[in-house]
This record gives sequence, structure tokens and C-alpha cells, in this order.
Amino acid sequence: MYPAKFEYVRASSSAEAIRMIQDSEDAKFIAGGHSLLPLMKFRMATPSLLVDIGRLSELSYVREDGNEIAIGALTRHCDVERSELLRRSVPILAHVAGQVGDPQVRHRGTIGGSTAHGDGASDLPAALLALDATFVAEGPSGRRELPAREFFRGFLETALGEDELLTEIRVPKAITTWSFQKFNRRAQDWAIVGVAAVRSDTTKVALVNMGSSPLRATGTEAALGEGASAPEAALRAAEGIDPPSDLNASADFRRHLASVLVRRALEEMNI
Ligand SMILES: Cc1cc2nc3c(=O)[nH]c(=O)nc-3n(C[C@H](O)[C@H](O)[C@H](O)COP(=O)(O)OP(=O)(O)OC[C@H]3O[C@@H](n4cnc5c(N)ncnc54)[C@H](O)[C@@H]3O)c2cc1C
Repeated sequence: MYPAKFEYVRASSSAEAIRMIQDSEDAKFIAGGHSLLPLMKFRMATPSLLVDIGRLSELSYVREDGNEIAIGALTRHCDVERSELLRRSVPILAHVAGQVGDPQVRHRGTIGGSTAHGDGASDLPAALLALDATFVAEGPSGRRELPAREFFRGFLETALGEDELLTEIRVPKAITTWSFQKFNRRAQDWAIVGVAAVRSDTTKVALVNMGSSPLRATGTEAALGEGASAPEAALRAAEGIDPPSDLNASADFRRHLASVLVRRALEEMNI
């Protein structure tokens, strides 16, 4: 399938990108293009203008900033995977980036694109949700910070305004243990179900492909808070969640997988 006709401009700075996106009613940023272009080819997205932010090197970095690590939105998955700073300070993120698709996808896709796309089947958004990340957005009305728990709103829907550019992702360093479990048939496939779990002051657990957006396993988190064992808490992984059925798995199988993977994650973390 070919995408519908569109205009294309390339921004040379984030300020210019924000100005350009306002020039058209249905313009979209394009970063790695690995989620947007497939949608355009299926005509599920028909933007009249693409504002290319893919070469904004000012937004590609991983830096230490006090108790947090700041990651530029244009940082590609392969650079997140290889960052020595992340491997040392927030290893779950480097590990999860290395589980995304195949090397070609990891060399093009960006952490900001994956986050802004807000796909419940994506790996990094769930890890960022478990980490209680903060997302920094800039737009015509200025800069704002959005907590991960308020960011993912529904199917490919986030709290970002249409003219807002996601510029930075901030994650806390104070993680003691973590686990990421991705269940797929072949190494490069999307997760049928995935689990990202981290322990700081409490244990936080997020789920991949259990709903239209990344979700926290609130049943498991509450059970752990009440002193339940890992196997007991894992049984509540899908509590209050209505997972999808598709060619890969029924909703019931996903519920079962979620509890198995959450138990494995908690046991790997010695909880
Ligand atoms: C074959 C294949 C396999 C894949 N496998 C996996 C997988 O196993 N796990 C996984 O998690 N993902 C997978 N992906 C998705 C991949 O990780 C994408 O790269 C990522 O989801 C989107 O990043 P991108 O930079 O390509 O964004 P784009 O496709 O360029 O953009 C996606 C959306 O985000 C918006 N956007 C992008 N950047 C910004 C920004 N800075 N501010 C505001 N809006 C922005 C765009 O307007 C668009 O709506 C796969 C993709 C492919 C093609």
C-alpha cells in the first residue's frame, strides 16, 4: 500500500519543528518512521504534512541529572541499549531497548517516537510506566512535564497535544532490582504479553500488550503492598484488565501469561 499524498519538511531545530507543525491542521512529526509509516501505508493515518525531526541531534543524548537520567526523545533504541550510563544506572531500559524488534528497527526507532506513539504492545512505554518516568513536552504554549501514569490515555492516544514535541524522558536512578519478561514466538517479534517490573521504595509492575495502552498491574502491586507472596501477587496480575484477543492469543491466554510472567519477574527479583 502507498500512503496518501503528503508534504514533507525537515526541521533543523526543535523550535523550528514546533513552528512548522502549526502550519498545517493535520501535520505530524516523523522521527524514525517505524510506527508512523506503516500506519500511513494502511491509510490509518493521512497527515497532509510530515515534519521530519529525525536529524535533531540536539535531542539525542543520555545524561545524568541529579537523581535522574535524562534521555533525549530522539535517542535511538540502539543508543539506549548501548548507553554505559543507562546500563549502570537504569539497566532495565538498556535491556528493554535491546529487545525491541530487530537491529534495523533499533537503528531507526527512537524512544520518543515509541513513547509518543503510545502503543500498548510496545516494550519501552511499559518499562517507562513501571519506572514512573517523567515526559517533557514543548509546544507553542511552553514547556510542561507529564508523569507517565497520566500520559498513556488509550489506543494510540497520549496526553501530548498535537502541536507538542516530546523532547526528553526522565527516569529515576534509585532502582534496586528489576526484571523484564517478553513472551514471543521468535526473538524479533512483538510481545504477545510482556512484563516490566522494578523495585525502588515499592515494587512497580507494568504490562505489555494487555490493553490498548501500557498498563500497571495494580492488582499485583496492591497484593505486594499487603504482604502477599510473589505467586499470590502474580495471580492478581490481570485484575481489572480486559486484554485483547487476536491471532496470537485469546484474552484468557493473555491473562494466564500475565500471571506466569509476573511471577517469573518477581521471583527473578527475589521478591
Ligand atoms: C518490523 C517492526 C518491528 C517492531 N517491533 C517492535 C517491538 O518488538 N517492540 C516495540 O516496542 N516496538 C517495535 N516496533 C516499533 C518501533 O519501536 C518504533 O520505532 C517505535 O515504536 C516508534 O519510533 P519512531 O521513532 O519510529 O516513531 P515514528 O514512527 O516516527 O512516530 C510514531 C508517532 O510518534 C510521533 N512522534 C515521534 N516522535 C515524536 C516526538 N519527539 N514528539 C512528539 N511526537 C512524536 C509521530 O508523529 C507518530 O505519531 C517495531 C516496528 C517495526 C517496523
